[in-house]
Amino acid sequence: MTTQAFRIVYGPWDCGLCANCGEGRENYCERTSGLGGGLGGHDGGMAEYLLVSATRFLIPLDVLDPREAAPLADAALTSYHAVKRSLYLLGAGSTAVVIGAGGLGQMAIQILRAVTSATTIVAVDTAADKLATARRMGADEALMAGDEAVTRVREMTGGQGVQLVLDMVGVDATLRMAVQVARVLGNLTIVGLGGGALPVSSLSPPHECSVCSPYWGYITELMEVVDLARAGRIRTLVEYFPLERADEAYRLLHEGKIQGRAVITPHT
Ligand SMILES: [Zn+2]
Repeated sequence: MTTQAFRIVYGPWDCGLCANCGEGRENYCERTSGLGGGLGGHDGGMAEYLLVSATRFLIPLDVLDPREAAPLADAALTSYHAVKRSLYLLGAGSTAVVIGAGGLGQMAIQILRAVTSATTIVAVDTAADKLATARRMGADEALMAGDEAVTRVREMTGGQGVQLVLDMVGVDATLRMAVQVARVLGNLTIVGLGGGALPVSSLSPPHECSVCSPYWGYITELMEVVDLARAGRIRTLVEYFPLERADEAYRLLHEGKIQGRAVITPHT
């Protein structure tokens, strides 16, 4: 089988009948409670084969290597959706902060670089190696998490804060930083599923700063993500594991020892 035959699965496929599904927004199916249908709703995604409910959820990969393209379906689509909904804020002179430069954050940085050439991108993390990777992926500044990072971001923006904060972690500490660097009329977008909480009052977050927590992305956006990858604008650091070593991959992820994404390759 050549790579021409491979397709990537749109993971959050769902009923296909409600208004949101009809718009290609199956990640927000009106008939599903909780985290989507498709891969989000069933056990058994980690298997040699997977039954997908319709061929329209399979996007052609063309020349892309399916092993390298696998993270496009999740890390890239999730990041792309989070960035695209805030594009109206990211004009010349704008700044975006990406908190967390792991696999998800690295993708967000590349997508920001690819679709917002005039935006200053700031990466924040607690690990020096991830900050170095963030710079390679296109971040203009890479800051170690902490009070000094907040001070630096506020300096860079004349004390105003940034147009877009992407919290790719979503724990209490990262949300605290996110609100400190957000600006009036900006967007604070919680992508990471860390389970942290953000206190909200009439004074914080800043006035008319919108807080949202998007989930995955639309099927048309997956097509756009695949186009970006085909054009060489985004790539993923990938480590491969055979199916028998899937447990090891999870352990390394848990220990923070995977630089980008772990991909299980059943047939190699
Ligand atoms: Zn639906």
